[in-house]
Amino acid sequence: MQKIVIASNNAGKLREFAALLAPLDFDVIPQSALQVPEAEEPHCTFVENALAKARHAARLTGLPALADDSGICVNALGGAPGVYSARFAGEPKSDERNNVKLLDELAHQSDRRAHYYCVLVFVHHADDPQPIIAEGEWHGEILASPQGAGGFGYDPLFWVPEHRQTVAQLEAGLKNQLSHRGKALAALVARLQRA
Ligand code: IMP
Repeated sequence: MQKIVIASNNAGKLREFAALLAPLDFDVIPQSALQVPEAEEPHCTFVENALAKARHAARLTGLPALADDSGICVNALGGAPGVYSARFAGEPKSDERNNVKLLDELAHQSDRRAHYYCVLVFVHHADDPQPIIAEGEWHGEILASPQGAGGFGYDPLFWVPEHRQTVAQLEAGLKNQLSHRGKALAALVARLQRA
């Protein structure tokens, strides 16, 4: 079984990655179990940040590494908050304050379109010149007030027109199928199976 290190310490993401990668005979190890500190995310694109995290984990462990980066991009805000989604309202990180700030910035906007984006980067080793990159998008609209108690982050504001619910109201299994992260993982698995 091939050991790979996952450059994330988020328990929910780790479970999702392990389940989807199990058929590929990967033994998925969180970077915290290998004493890898979190990498800097200094870049202004998701893919650059994910690549930096994957290379950092591969360099410190000598193992192949998988990293992700994700966020929400709002059309009327020119794609913001984008890579700054987690800290949109500043430090310390707060989903509630981020949602309030997003509603404030969209207060006079009729264009409510937005999408979640996720990129996954797999490197065979730290200096891999040919990383495997997979992405996923999930399109919806930003409501004028929150609805629902599930999910995290911007989910109570993110309306999914096809299901007439916010992501915070969707059943968790359905979210995993429809989400930007689910789509990116499915694309990555398909890509790794071809490799
Ligand atoms: P990260 O990729 O875990 O760093 O996520 C960045 C930020 O994007 C999160 O803190 C959330 O604010 C937002 N985000 C990413 N994916 C989701 C999602 O599925 N639901 C809600 N917010 C998300």
